[in-house]
Amino acid sequence: MGRILFFLILAGVAYIVFKSWQRKQVSGAGGMSSREKVSHNPREVIYPCKHCGAYSPLSEGVMLQGRFYCSADHAKLAGEKMVN
Ligand SMILES: [Zn+2]
Repeated sequence: MGRILFFLILAGVAYIVFKSWQRKQVSGAGGMSSREKVSHNPREVIYPCKHCGAYSPLSEGVMLQGRFYCSADHAKLAGEKMVN
């Protein structure tokens, strides 16, 4: 009887350890894939800056009334009125 109880506890502990390991694996993989989406987005659109002509991803520059600038400084230099 004592032996059966021992194996039941062992199975319970193994199950808990396995579940927590599985959760760690899933959350780790999810975090990695979301990071990858940010750094290597194949659909990231590259635009030329209206001021200096440098090509930059849309997320790194500023878009004002359909005109793209590589930075807020170049938008200002080109005469764009910044809201903030
Ligand atoms: Zn520029």
